[in-house]
Amino acid sequence: MRSRIHILATGGTIAGETDPASGGTRYTAGVRSVDALLAAVPALSDVADISAEQILALDSKDITPADWLVIRAAAIHSLADPAIDGIVILHGTDTMEETAWFLHLSLPAGKAVVLTGAMRPADHAQPDGPANLLAAVRLAAGNAAQDTGVLVVMNETAHAARWLVKARSSGLDAFESCRPWRDARPDGRFSDLTISALPRVNLLPGYAGAPAELIDACVAAGARGLVLALTGHGSIPAAWLPALRRAKQAGVAILRASRCAGPVVRNTNADDDAEGWLSAGDLPPAKARIALMLALAAGWPDDALRTRLPGL
Ligand code: ASP
Repeated sequence: MRSRIHILATGGTIAGETDPASGGTRYTAGVRSVDALLAAVPALSDVADISAEQILALDSKDITPADWLVIRAAAIHSLADPAIDGIVILHGTDTMEETAWFLHLSLPAGKAVVLTGAMRPADHAQPDGPANLLAAVRLAAGNAAQDTGVLVVMNETAHAARWLVKARSSGLDAFESCRPWRDARPDGRFSDLTISALPRVNLLPGYAGAPAELIDACVAAGARGLVLALTGHGSIPAAWLPALRRAKQAGVAILRASRCAGPVVRNTNADDDAEGWLSAGDLPPAKARIALMLALAAGWPDDALRTRLPGL
């Protein structure tokens, strides 16, 4: 039986057009409508019945947590439709790994959810968007993507939301993942959560001479959590300690992550128990931030934050 795949378009370079004034060096993302993008790929109708809606038209560098909620609501609505077998989300590549991970944790499991985009704008002489769109629809319409959670397809390669990173700023092979997508399993642990707004969680990088004032500024701005993208194995600069203790005292969750690949293990290289800090396990900082936002929104108690977040 033919599958029906519903496309949710959010903008990105896949819908981008070159800015003529730039002499071809710059383009504007999110200009072309989803109907125009579909019309450029007639082979889609050989693969599945297609329906589509334009839910956002953004460069993904400008996507906010409020936009994640818009995408999530549209996805939940589509996935609940018994006539729809899977969804494909067109999205900019800059924050694709964040949206994919947010949806992986917060959408119900059972139907295919595949994100794709493009590294070249739609009016490029050799655009990659049409092939990516076709590959994403093929994956969503097949029978492998229902048991993996949220996937991303770029440049003829599928990636699991959990392990995907945009590793290069340009080139068709911009995305990488450290494990094969077929190893992934659905999550959706926050799929029943009603979220009207996500709590503010800020990300602060550690580097030589990183100022502690930014910690106080985040707390003053209303942060409920701070994810620290620290050097090495989550090393806290000594100069940050007073500000971090003030933040903790004010009820802000403090989570140690690393700007390196690899895990930040609890109580290793810092006394997390004594300070009341959390650790990221092998979640990279941007994904640890999303997990913490959802966990705070769900009201996870401290012991769940301590023990369950690093295992995500
Ligand atoms: N800045 C663009 C975006 O993320 C880049 C892209 O889509 O490749 O929307």
